[in-house]
Amino acid sequence: MDVRIKFLGGAKSVTGSRYLLEVDHYKLLIDCGLFQGLKDLRLRNWEEFPINPAEIDAIILTHAHLDHTGYLPKLVREGFSGKIYATEPTIDLVKVLLLDSAKLQEEEAEYAKKKGYSSHEDPQPLYTVKDAERVFSLLEGVDIEKSIKINPQIKATFSLAGHILGACIVSLDLMGSSQRKKIVFSGDLGRYSDPVLDPPKAITEADILLVESTYGDRDNINASPDLELAEVIKDTQRRGGVVLIPAFTVGRTQLVLYYLYTLIKEGKIPKIPVYIDSPMAIKVNDIYKRYFDFHKLDEIQLSEHDSPLNFKQLHYRKEQEESMGLNFIDDNAIIISASGMVTGGRILHHLSNRLKNPQDTVLFVGFQAEGTRGRKILDRQEPIKIFGMSHQIKCDVQYIEGLSAHADRGELLHWLSQFDSEPKMTFIIHGEEKSALGFQASIKEKLGWDAIIPEYMESFKLFDNI
Ligand SMILES: [Zn+2]
Repeated sequence: MDVRIKFLGGAKSVTGSRYLLEVDHYKLLIDCGLFQGLKDLRLRNWEEFPINPAEIDAIILTHAHLDHTGYLPKLVREGFSGKIYATEPTIDLVKVLLLDSAKLQEEEAEYAKKKGYSSHEDPQPLYTVKDAERVFSLLEGVDIEKSIKINPQIKATFSLAGHILGACIVSLDLMGSSQRKKIVFSGDLGRYSDPVLDPPKAITEADILLVESTYGDRDNINASPDLELAEVIKDTQRRGGVVLIPAFTVGRTQLVLYYLYTLIKEGKIPKIPVYIDSPMAIKVNDIYKRYFDFHKLDEIQLSEHDSPLNFKQLHYRKEQEESMGLNFIDDNAIIISASGMVTGGRILHHLSNRLKNPQDTVLFVGFQAEGTRGRKILDRQEPIKIFGMSHQIKCDVQYIEGLSAHADRGELLHWLSQFDSEPKMTFIIHGEEKSALGFQASIKEKLGWDAIIPEYMESFKLFDNI
């Protein structure tokens, strides 16, 4: 058996995760993400896929985030028709996220056409709602810690990774004619102190390992982010302003709500109204209520009344008009809206309304990739362009890294230290160049391992004739 891997994304970048494994003639794609952020990266979404999608036999998804799944509708439209393996909560979340992503792309293409600010004469969406729906029948649910046969030579086992609901580390067992080998994909690894999700499962064996490095050069990300959150809210309250939180509807929104609920209960922040401005939020909450085995909240904590997802000060805004109505709030309030990296969605109109207000705060709670509007606001690269208009930043801008869904360097190293021995090859993926390089040096220093940082489209022979 010959085994090769090719990095079709998520190499020296945090988006576009797509790893092509070739086991003899069988082609297995691990994750199928969208590129986001820098223009050079986004353009890759529009390029021809590096191999004919019809030739890919199957796909495995580590988790539902769009940078791991958001390319699926295009791949299916272009001929992929195999099975897509994922955990049940991931499948439910993927359906919600892909429909939303397709709808946003249709709306944005329409809006750009109407306003004429696109450089294209006839701006088209990358894919449509119809394309997204065609993915659904291919999704195939898998259980945690129960190995499944992908083909006669490949078995896959999914282990919880923390990060977001349903997220997994994927271990592949390859049965060669003379030897067995194990390839482990870390997926995105969560934090060890997350109050909603369990920490990443320890894996002890791998011949080949791919490990994420989003925060590979960042240490000691605060373990009590709730106290930092309280400070930001109280500071903004003193100014009579609104705290605007761009957050992914899956994961970050529920974590922030958990902390807000607890802080209000404990009297650590005032009882100000909290608005979740997302058409998807209620659907996502319902998914949490279907999968109690996948998170730490119990039925009481997710009950209809007085719980982190349903408390007196909390209001859900589903409709577009309700969302626009939030622009008139000029008193203390917290508004949570997507997308988390400000690449699209309702957060855009909130920002174009609030960036100019010195009393308001934009609070980031997740990683902001290079080239995204979120990163530009964080780095104060003015002017900020939204819907073709330029904005200056007059509001306060804050970032609580401790609320992020990603393990920091210490936590990543801890996860690696649980392997019995150094894998034959370790690849550092899902990190911008600086993080990947920092992490590579730390791995060498702490574990003595030589890890590789692959390039986009680089390919490696993993096993020969096993
Ligand atoms: Zn993720």
